[in-house]
Amino acid sequence: MINKNLPILPNEKNVIGILGGGQLGKLIALSASKSGYKTHLYCPRGDNPAEMVVDKVTNGEWNDFEKLVQFSEDVACATSEFENIPSKTLELLSGNTNVIPSNVVFRCAQIRSKEKEMALKSGFNTPKWFLIKNTDDLITATQSLSNNAILKTNTFGYDGKGQFRINNNSNLFEIWEKLGAVECVLEELLDFKREISIMYFKSTDNTDGFFPLSENFHENGILKKTIAPAILNDAIKDELKLKTKKLSENLNFYGIIAIELFELVDGRIIFNEIAPRPHNSFHWTLDGCENSQFDILIRTICGLPVKDVKCNTKWEMKNIIGDDANNLNEIYSNQNYLLNLYGKKNIKAGRKMGHYNRQII
Ligand code: ADP
Ligand code: MG
Repeated sequence: MINKNLPILPNEKNVIGILGGGQLGKLIALSASKSGYKTHLYCPRGDNPAEMVVDKVTNGEWNDFEKLVQFSEDVACATSEFENIPSKTLELLSGNTNVIPSNVVFRCAQIRSKEKEMALKSGFNTPKWFLIKNTDDLITATQSLSNNAILKTNTFGYDGKGQFRINNNSNLFEIWEKLGAVECVLEELLDFKREISIMYFKSTDNTDGFFPLSENFHENGILKKTIAPAILNDAIKDELKLKTKKLSENLNFYGIIAIELFELVDGRIIFNEIAPRPHNSFHWTLDGCENSQFDILIRTICGLPVKDVKCNTKWEMKNIIGDDANNLNEIYSNQNYLLNLYGKKNIKAGRKMGHYNRQII
């Protein structure tokens, strides 16, 4: 359901619903609040940083349909920060409120084989890939990729979780069991030059735009650092934007969407995955742009006009992961490090605790 009464402007009735209580939910709520909107958060009980900054919280499970219906009746629109939200949950909510991006978009992002098919249909190249349903499939596909591959669970992967690299020495049976003996995709392991990401947005008033590109550095499958804006040849960039718009059209997309990409040594751009929500590789926009990705998300779901966001300086964003959060003295001592701590109570290895932005030119 897309509300005909656009734009949704801030008033007592027009509360913005946020699904998911992590750092992305917190930063969405802060942007909404800055623009005068009240927010209502729905998330399971837990260590939820977003709870600190919203106007109202409903703690409930993703399948508590009674609570979800109550929530949907209280909000003018809703958006999810949590990529693995069951698409049934979004479908139910969309009976009562504007859910942006839609359940169709999230479903596509949640299933690696579906998102790859959609990417191919939209003109992108993907790594060679195979759908793997059992160990026989795995053995055959691994051979055809010359034992140089990555096995990823078809659903529920994030931050490098749910994936294993495969080489000549790998025990395929052991890896299959470690991933839970579930449906997977096997991908060719690319020897890329760099990783980049693009972010597109489209408001429910049908205006749209892009952020400048980001260049990303991963460690153990987790984003460690982003440098932006990333430089890319104009013709290649224009083609990339066309394909991104095509993919969005194919999904009847509204909201913000990031696409993770590999750039090969020969200049070809290869699709990795989509994220229809704020993306860690665009956290630099919080300090580097007049409107951050969170500000733009609010504008798109409320039907306010949007256009390309520019940035004339260069930024570095570094994640504070796990134990890094216990060693912040250097960052505290330098005011050029624009620190953003999420306020999570428990530090765990691989957990994103915060980030900082720093202008580098
Ligand atoms: P997640 O959903 O966990 O972010 P990704 O598919 O983005 O999963 O993989 C995480 C990281 O692993 C990527 O950012 C990249 O660094 C590396 N990676 C993933 N797929 C490939 C591939 N086919 N070839 C080379 N590296 C890859
Ligand atoms: Mg990824």
